[in-house]
Amino acid sequence: MKFIVLGSGCSVPHSKRTSSAYWVEAQKTKILLDCSASSISRMAQENLDWHDLDSIWISHFHLDHFGGIMPFLFGTKWAPQTQGRKKQLRIFGPQGLEKKLRDFDSAGEYDLFNQPFPLEIIEIEPLKEFEISEQLKAVAFKTPHTQESLAISLCDSSGKRIVFTSDTGFDNALGDFAHGADLFVLECSFLQNKPVELHLELRESMFLIRYAKPKKALLTHFYPEWDSVDFEGEIDKFSPPCQVIEAKDSLRLEV
Ligand SMILES: [Zn+2]
Ligand SMILES: [Zn+2]
Repeated sequence: MKFIVLGSGCSVPHSKRTSSAYWVEAQKTKILLDCSASSISRMAQENLDWHDLDSIWISHFHLDHFGGIMPFLFGTKWAPQTQGRKKQLRIFGPQGLEKKLRDFDSAGEYDLFNQPFPLEIIEIEPLKEFEISEQLKAVAFKTPHTQESLAISLCDSSGKRIVFTSDTGFDNALGDFAHGADLFVLECSFLQNKPVELHLELRESMFLIRYAKPKKALLTHFYPEWDSVDFEGEIDKFSPPCQVIEAKDSLRLEV
C-alpha cells in the first residue's frame, strides 16, 4: 500500500501544514482518509487522481477533517475530469454522516447528490468489518474525541495493515485495536501539558506505540507549538520500540 500525507496539521491555519487528509492506494483502489478543506487542492498538488477516488473515509465531523467534502462534491459535479466517470464514489463515516451532508446540501440548494456518477453514503458501526474498496477490508473503532469519532484499520489482500486513529483522547484500547499494524498513524496534537483531554500529547502517543507494537508509527495532527520542537530529540527520550516518523505534508510511505 502507498500512504501519502496530504495534511499533517490541525484546524489552525499554518504555512507548512494543511489540515487532516491522507491518501491510500492499494493495488488499483484509491482512498482518501479524512477530507479537510485544504485536501481537495492538496490532492491535485500531489498529482493524485482525485477524479478516480473509490472511497472517502470521514473520521468525525470536525471541519479540519470534514470541511472539504462538500467543496469536493461541488468540484466533481462540474469538473471536466468527472463528466465521463461511471464508477461509484462511496463516502464512509460515522452515524449521522448522511444527515450532515444532506442538511448542508439543502441549505445551499447545491444538488450535490446529483453527480455525473453514482454516489453512495455509508454509515459505519464500530467493530463491524466492511469493504471500503475492492481490495481493502476495514473496521472502525470508537475513539474518545467527539460523540461520533472513529479510528479505522485497513487491511489489504496481502495482510498489510494500516491503522489511523484520527483525533482521539487517550484510550488503552486503541493500543489493542492497532496491535501489530504495519503502519500505526496516530495523532500527537501536543508535546506536553495538553490543554484538552480529547487529544493526545507525546507521552500518550508513545505509550500507545509501545503497547501496540506496530512495525512503524507515524505521528501527525500537529498543533503549531510543535514548530519549535526537536522532533527526533523528543522521540529519543522515550527509547521508541520502532521507527517513529514525523508526518509532514507530501511525505510518502510504502507499507
Ligand atoms: Zn482535528
Ligand atoms: Zn477533531
